[in-house]
Amino acid sequence: MRVYRRCGRCGKKQEFINTGKLRVNANRNRIDVWLVFRCKKCKRTWNMAVYERAKLSKLVPAEYNRFLCNDPELAAEYGNDFSFLRRNNAEFHVKGRI
Ligand SMILES: [Zn+2]
Repeated sequence: MRVYRRCGRCGKKQEFINTGKLRVNANRNRIDVWLVFRCKKCKRTWNMAVYERAKLSKLVPAEYNRFLCNDPELAAEYGNDFSFLRRNNAEFHVKGRI
């Protein structure tokens, strides 16, 4: 999957690379989970929201544990998840097809 967005530092559209890093932030019982992408050119980071202010009770515990462990397979799954990419207003192309 190739992911594109306008990079604020480059000032134009760039390819963003999935770093495979999942960031979890817990605030009381509200959870934010991001998957970190990076501009291919200038390395500026872009945190794409997997969950925003989600109730801990709404998350599947097994998946939540995988976020905490920074599971690379889960990071790759989200990086290829069309609905996740669309929610984050990412432009994307399946590799090998334009
Ligand atoms: Zn850039």
